[in-house]
Amino acid sequence: MNEFGRISPSLTNTEKMPVLFLGHGSPMNAIDENEFVAGFRKVAGEIPHPAAILCVSAHWETRGTYVTAMEKPRTIHDFGGFPQELYEVQYPASGNPELAKATQHLVTATTINMDDKRGLDHGAWSVIRQMYPKADIPVVQLSLNRNMAAGDHYQLAKELSVLREKGVLIIGSGNIVHNLGMVDWRNMNKVGHAYDWATVAREKINKFILNDDHQSLINYRNQGIEFGLSIPTPEHYLPLLYVLALKGKNDTVQLFNDKALAGSLTMTSVKISS
Ligand code: ZN
Repeated sequence: MNEFGRISPSLTNTEKMPVLFLGHGSPMNAIDENEFVAGFRKVAGEIPHPAAILCVSAHWETRGTYVTAMEKPRTIHDFGGFPQELYEVQYPASGNPELAKATQHLVTATTINMDDKRGLDHGAWSVIRQMYPKADIPVVQLSLNRNMAAGDHYQLAKELSVLREKGVLIIGSGNIVHNLGMVDWRNMNKVGHAYDWATVAREKINKFILNDDHQSLINYRNQGIEFGLSIPTPEHYLPLLYVLALKGKNDTVQLFNDKALAGSLTMTSVKISS
């Protein structure tokens, strides 16, 4: 048995799993019915049933990199001002300490620390719940290290690629265009509503994604004012880089849920598959 098999005997070889970036939008997408959650469910129906999920969510930023390593992660309601119904949602997926250990073992670019206190944030459970409502797939989260540059996140992600051959579905959860300060709250559910800068950024980013121009996406800070307005902070954008870094040479890239919302958000999601 090799080192990986010794650390994670339950993660056996499978066909190569896809990788997904999901634009998660409002936490209400955990319980709402709309075209975006239908998109999440559709993609879940198209891909092989995962043995486990490793999620990089915009909503877990840390100093240093952490992976959730507990058997039973709790459901974290990390938002304010939503209906009581949303606070009552529990997503009782188990954790997967073996996958946490495998992740720690695979990454050499930085130290991965084990976390046994946290749980699943809404960036993870709001979308995974729509895809896998039975909560029968173990979920592990990997944090975003605030101290790392975009290119370092991309390199770290590359080290996770073998997990795709072990039945692990890697999900990046964020939003590519995400400027909450400029959201048009009176039109917050208006699909297709985008400020001009959001449209420019969305179109350019989509082109970079589809042309495998990852370097331009890593250098998002040098792509002009439209990118600056669309990505005012990195946390909702960086999960995209994790997903793109895992693209193999012969994999195909598809966009779905590729629509703007509320002026300053996009729900654009990405499916990478072999
Ligand atoms: Zn979010």
